[in-house]
Amino acid sequence: MMLENQVALVTGAGKGIGKAIALALASNGAAVIVNYNGSKERAKETVNQIQENGGKAEAIGCNVADFNSCKEMLEDVISRYGRLDILVNNAGITKDNLLMKMSEEDFDAVIDINLKGAFNCMKHVARQMIKQKSGRIINISSVSGVAGNAGQANYSASKAGLIGLTKTAAKELASRGITVNAIAPGFIQTEMTDVLSDAIKSAALEKIPMKRFGEPEDIAQAVLFFASGNAKYITGQVICVDGGMVM
Ligand code: NAP
Repeated sequence: MMLENQVALVTGAGKGIGKAIALALASNGAAVIVNYNGSKERAKETVNQIQENGGKAEAIGCNVADFNSCKEMLEDVISRYGRLDILVNNAGITKDNLLMKMSEEDFDAVIDINLKGAFNCMKHVARQMIKQKSGRIINISSVSGVAGNAGQANYSASKAGLIGLTKTAAKELASRGITVNAIAPGFIQTEMTDVLSDAIKSAALEKIPMKRFGEPEDIAQAVLFFASGNAKYITGQVICVDGGMVM
């Protein structure tokens, strides 16, 4: 078991990519904190699935956009488990529109969850990871943050910001035994992309050299790599998991 005795927290892990990440970390031996905001029942299902497979997990509700709630969640986890080895900032939303039509509220909402949410969690685990002299922080960005995407000014800005946050934290924390990396998924089949029109899906498919969409497990495997000892000399990097969409 590669992650035996390790404790991991995955934000937004009741469904989609977060759920696949939680399952993958747990099946490799980590005790997993399954964070949710709106989807309490789905988070419980993730926990049940992990426990049925013989793993350890619990669900904790917290809106990652709320600085104090993140502080409380992480203080609670660290005091009860005595450590936190892996933080995966996966929680994210979209509120797509063209720049000219985008409301201030929709811009702020996406930045607050996708970018500030990651800052809120990273800030509150950094001290503990420094104390442990070890830690893995993995941020789920997007190819939209790497290359931009028409109709996603708020989302692309949040995901590009997350890459800057990743690289800066990597530089600040490297000498303390902590790695910070990002994954930029391409088009992955989840509820986030299910709602897109057939026209948008066909246009996306056109841009993917592998000519198919990815699955949440494709992202989970990249997270597992960054969390594992195999990636111990890698920090501040961004891996696109996108079927070749951005290269
Ligand atoms: P999803 O199925 O819509 O899941 C989004 C997750 O984020 C949910 O678990 C949701 O939890 C959580 N979340 C949203 N707001 C939250 C908040 N304020 N506090 C805590 N959790 C919150 O989407 P997904 O496709 O799995 O996306 C997961 C991540 O991958 C996101 O960061 C997304 O931007 C990124 N990504 C996805 C794709 C793709 O093609 N699917 C591509 C690139 C990047 P609740 O339901 O409990 O609120």
